[in-house]
Amino acid sequence: MTQNQDDKYRCEECGATFDSQVEWEQHNRKVHSRYTCENCQEHFDKEDEFEAHNFKMHPELQKYPR
Ligand SMILES: [Zn+2]
Ligand SMILES: [Zn+2]
Repeated sequence: MTQNQDDKYRCEECGATFDSQVEWEQHNRKVHSRYTCENCQEHFDKEDEFEAHNFKMHPELQKYPR
């Protein structure tokens, strides 16, 4: 395995590379319909999973109606 010296973001699904994390996230969302947690960089295939993760791991981000 060769080490990529470029500090690029690589899509694990199709191998496409991106200069910025934003582009990488947009690609994931657009092409692979994925959701990425901006807080811990985990990604999720379904919106349900992503929301459940946010709810569980980052409760401070949730807005609870009182
Ligand atoms: Zn891809
Ligand atoms: Zn997270």
